[in-house]
Amino acid sequence: MRVLVSGGAGYIGSHTVLALIEAGHDILVVDDFSNAKPTVVGRLEALSGRHIPVHAFDLTDADKTSHLFDTETIDAVIHFAGYKAVGESVAKPLSYYENNLGSTFSLVRAMQRHGVHKLVFSSSATVYGTDQAAATEDRPTFATNPYGWTKVMQEQILRDVAAADPDSRFALLRYFNPVGAHPSGTIGEDPSDVPNNLMPYIAQVAVGRREKLQVFGDDYDTVDGTGVRDYIHVEDLAAGHVAALEALERTEEPVSTWNLGTGRGTSVLELLHAFERAVGRELPYEVVARRAGDVAASYADPSKANAELGWRTVKTVDEMCADTWRWQSQNPDGYPD
Ligand code: UDP
Repeated sequence: MRVLVSGGAGYIGSHTVLALIEAGHDILVVDDFSNAKPTVVGRLEALSGRHIPVHAFDLTDADKTSHLFDTETIDAVIHFAGYKAVGESVAKPLSYYENNLGSTFSLVRAMQRHGVHKLVFSSSATVYGTDQAAATEDRPTFATNPYGWTKVMQEQILRDVAAADPDSRFALLRYFNPVGAHPSGTIGEDPSDVPNNLMPYIAQVAVGRREKLQVFGDDYDTVDGTGVRDYIHVEDLAAGHVAALEALERTEEPVSTWNLGTGRGTSVLELLHAFERAVGRELPYEVVARRAGDVAASYADPSKANAELGWRTVKTVDEMCADTWRWQSQNPDGYPD
């Protein structure tokens, strides 16, 4: 298949580009580089040995999106592009709704005009709201912040579009907590600001860019009192996208929903200690107050994806930390400009 990867220069997008090429697919990328550095493209070309065609524009521009479909052969779309910072979404809700919904509108419009039926959508466990422990796909969806609502709304929009066009083959992929990096250490997560997420924060402490980790609460009802999450290696996640895309060729369902997680929970302190093993020394931390809006535990029930996609995660938490550390230590300041 020739697959359009929106947000293909981003963290999950870039790893998925490689997985698609390795699986024998042809790809093209659209990315506006609002939260990605163009230098990632050369690294993807070095790793894959292939030219990566990149279209640099904002998908909310419906005319440019339509023109892309007029001029390129596209068999399927994987849609990663979107704003993703929870805190920022609370401060700038309108930007989040405009950007995340707007890009989906112009993409799906262009797909309809050109008879493209296959779409894999980048959703999140955030659609389970406060009910994220052992989550199964049939739970009701809701959100606790504007970012989460954009995911809930985009899922609903895609379900409605698919109901009106039974030829649709849409996959809604609910990611748990993507971490890790390509084992080469040449591509990885590169937050443009202070990291909001735990793993990149720990990695920046380890490399000396931050003084110490702040652990947000140790009085949850969990194994050691700290928050529990289902960390999934980005390469397992990328493989899940390839499996979902291929499943869309077989299924008769207009919409399929799959959790992509390991099914195992890891606490903040367990992840910190795993990272210390990867680095070979202790890392400084302090326990502070809980972060507003956090749930105690979030982990997938991945059995539907395991059964229907023939996919399962293979990488351990220690591998996630070792690969993150290789990326961070080789690129202390992230991608060069
Ligand atoms: N966390 C933390 N310190 C940080 C960032 C995160 O203690 O600097 C905790 C957070 O409270 C949660 C877990 O680490 O229990 C994962 O947080 P992250 O933001 O990575 O993922 P999410 O909460 O969105 O699942």
